[in-house]
Amino acid sequence: MATPLLLHACCGPCSLEPVRLLREEGFEPTICWTNPNIQPVSEHDLRLRTLRAWAEDVAHVDVIVASDDREAWERGVAPAAFDRERRCKACYALRLSESCRIAREHGFGHISTTLAVSPYQLYDTCADLLEKLARQNGLVPVVRDFRPYYPKATRESRELGMYRQNYCGCRFSAAEAAIERHEARDARKAAKRAKRSA
Ligand code: SF4
Repeated sequence: MATPLLLHACCGPCSLEPVRLLREEGFEPTICWTNPNIQPVSEHDLRLRTLRAWAEDVAHVDVIVASDDREAWERGVAPAAFDRERRCKACYALRLSESCRIAREHGFGHISTTLAVSPYQLYDTCADLLEKLARQNGLVPVVRDFRPYYPKATRESRELGMYRQNYCGCRFSAAEAAIERHEARDARKAAKRAKRSA
């Protein structure tokens, strides 16, 4: 008999490998969606639709859509702006706290998160928060480092034709990702120029 587990999910592509691996370990995940960080709302809705379609048609996993408290995000997270450490820590805490509340409400004993898939997340910060918040709520934190499976998740989500975003979620991350893409493009151009003139 599989052990029920509530899995906070940030998006569809990042859910593929955690659901598979947790099932292999003997858990039966139910996904919890609570991501008030995702901006704009159209992007939020697109990610949720993508997740639900995959959960229903491919993974056959239940999805609980919890509160997306955008005002709480603006109050508690947005003031950190481009201080990424502080901002992401507050953002994880908001989402994982709501996931813990849902886990308690629905009688789950174990909790985990798909945030541990992407190498772009602050893994240690997220793992520490999951551990702390789960214990505070009388839950067992299932802390796993899913990052080695990120390339597989990327490949498979592409094969499934899933929508894949190119920034984490908030407006600050969208700006940071755009700057990084511009810098990478500039670096490639500079390298080509250097090669031509060598
Ligand atoms: S970068 Fe991602 S985790 Fe960090 S605050 Fe923005 S949405 Fe939240």
